Amino acid sequence: MNSEFVLIVGGAGYIGAHTCFELLVSGYNIVVLDNLSNSQKESLKRLSTLTGKEIDFYEVDIRDSRSVDLVFEKYGFSSVVHFAGLKSVGESNSFPLKYYDNNVSGSISLLKVMDKYNVKKLVFSSSATVYGTPKELPIPETAPTSTINPYGQSKLLVEKILVDVAKADPDWKIANLRYFNPAGAHFSGLIGEDPKDIPNNIMPYISQVAVGKLEKLSVFGGDYDTVDGTGVRDYIHVTDLAKGHLAALNYLNSSQECGFSSFNLGTGKGVSVLELINAFEKASGKNIPFNIVARRQGDVAACYADPTKANKVLGWKAELDIDRICQDAWRWQVNNPTGY
Ligand code: NAD
Ligand code: UDP
Repeated sequence: MNSEFVLIVGGAGYIGAHTCFELLVSGYNIVVLDNLSNSQKESLKRLSTLTGKEIDFYEVDIRDSRSVDLVFEKYGFSSVVHFAGLKSVGESNSFPLKYYDNNVSGSISLLKVMDKYNVKKLVFSSSATVYGTPKELPIPETAPTSTINPYGQSKLLVEKILVDVAKADPDWKIANLRYFNPAGAHFSGLIGEDPKDIPNNIMPYISQVAVGKLEKLSVFGGDYDTVDGTGVRDYIHVTDLAKGHLAALNYLNSSQECGFSSFNLGTGKGVSVLELINAFEKASGKNIPFNIVARRQGDVAACYADPTKANKVLGWKAELDIDRICQDAWRWQVNNPTGY
C-alpha cells in the first residue's frame, strides 16, 4: 500500500488504462492527466466500475506547463508514469513536426515540471522500434539502437534526454520500458484498444475483420526468412505489460540504485502473422479472410525480446500466451463493436 499519489500521464489510453487498473488494485493512489487526443473519458469511468474507486482526472496537454504545474501543486506526487505520446509510424512520416512537438517537446515540458517539484521517479513508455533492424535475436537491452521514422526517432530522442537527465542529477530514477507488441484487452471486456480510424496494427485489424467491420486482412509479405514467410513479432498481453509498469514502479520505490535503466517488456517468443491469424480464428470461431501482399516499407522480418533483465531486476515475467491474447481481444471487440 502506498499513500502517495502517482501521476499517470496519458492514463486514459490503451496501455495507460490497463496500467491504472493494476496500480489501483495494488493499492496505489493515482491521478490521471490526459488531453484525450487519442482516448475517451469513458475508459476511466469503466476503470471506476471495475475497481470501485473514483479517479481524479485532468484534461490537460503535457505541453501546457502552467496547467501541469497546477496539478503538481495540488498533489504530492511520488512518481510519474508517462504514456502520453502519438504512436502512428505512418502519420509520423507525414507530420514529423507534430510528432517531435508532442512526443519530444511534451516530454521535456513534463520533465521540467517534475524537476521543479522534485518528483524524480519516472516510468517511460518506449518501444522496441528503437532497435531498428535487429542484428541479433532475441534482442537484449544492450543491442544497438537506430530508427528510420520520426515516431521511432521521437522515442529514441526522449531516451537520450532521460539518460542525460539521470547523468546530471543522480536523484533521478528512471525505468525506460521498451514494449514489444502490446495486444489483447482486459479480461472483463470493459477496457481495450479503441483505434479512431482504420487500424494500422495487426491485432485490432484482425479483430475488426473477424467482427465483419473490415472485409479482409492484407498480410504484408510472405517471403521473409521466417518460419512461414510472414513477419514475426513478440505479442505481449496488455495486462502483462501493465503489470510490468507496476513492477517497475515498485522497483523505483524500493531500489537504492539511481539512474536510468532500460527494460524489454516482451514474452521472448516470436509469433508469425499466419500463426496469429490461426490463434484468432480459434479464439473467435470466425474465419479471417486474408491476402498475402507486398511487404510494408520499413517492416523487419522478425523482432522478439530477450526479457531476462526485466525478470531478474524487476521480478516480472509475461504470463499470458497468444491464445489468451486473442480470446481477450475478441471479448473486447464483441462487447464493444464501436469502441467505448
Ligand atoms: P494511446 O494513444 O492509447 O495512449 C496515449 C495517451 O496519451 C492517449 O490517451 C492520448 O490522448 C494521450 N496523449 C497523447 N499526447 C498527449 C499530450 N500531449 N498531452 C496529454 N496526453 C496526451 O496509446 P498506447 O497504445 O496506450 O501507448 C502508450 C504509449 O506507449 C505511447 O507513448 C506509445 O508511443 C507507447 N508504445 C505503444 C505501443 C503500442 O503498440 N500500443 C508500442 C510501443 C510503445
Ligand atoms: N501486419 C500485416 N497486416 C496488417 C498489419 C500488420 O501483415 O494489416 C504485419 C506486419 O507486417 C508485422 C506484424 O503484422 O509483421 C505486426 O505489425 P504491427 O503494425 O501490428 O506492429 P509493428 O511490429 O509493425 O509495430
